[in-house]
Amino acid sequence: MARLIFLGAPGAGKGTQAMILASLQNIPHISTGEILRAAVAGKTSLGVKAQGYMDRGELVPDQLVIDLIRERLEGSDAQAGWILDGFPRNVAQADSLSALLTELAQKVDYAVNLYVPDDVLVTRLLGRGRKDDNEAVIRRRLEVYQEQTAPLIEYYETQGNLVTIEGDRAMEEVTESLKPLV
Ligand code: ADP
Repeated sequence: MARLIFLGAPGAGKGTQAMILASLQNIPHISTGEILRAAVAGKTSLGVKAQGYMDRGELVPDQLVIDLIRERLEGSDAQAGWILDGFPRNVAQADSLSALLTELAQKVDYAVNLYVPDDVLVTRLLGRGRKDDNEAVIRRRLEVYQEQTAPLIEYYETQGNLVTIEGDRAMEEVTESLKPLV
């Protein structure tokens, strides 16, 4: 039973680590980025609304991701735990999550700040080759992270459930540091 949030900049390795931990625990890995990319590929109404923001490296409007997280956390497979990757990404989303979890009588066990220095992030993202991984968009995503998402580090520190993990290490080493949290 684990309920974890992954904070951390684009390219920090949240997706990789969240997926590994979720499969170890047999709980869902809920990535808003993945859900949104699938919606864009499937040209659903969510995808059509989200695409322009994603292509520019901006956050999609809060209500879109809040609605999809609500639907996902209410699902029967999410009752024994979950790992959130890419949500919340700003204070409004964190407040909405907190209200939703109160409603569901659940709480976050840990907010993991996966820390990787900026120069390493850019190198990693340029090597990844996703559609939104060109240099201008990457730069914008990192700015958005600093402006909107980084304040959540303090937000969860104040709540007493922040854990900072050094992400600039071999993937397996990072996983070993995370295992005690799940
Ligand atoms: P990365 O961590 O590399 O930035 P993600 O897959 O988490 O990649 O997100 C890709 C894009 O999806 C973001 O740049 C943003 O446009 C959108 N997105 C994902 N999660 C959220 C969210 N919680 N709120 C707003 N937009 C989001």
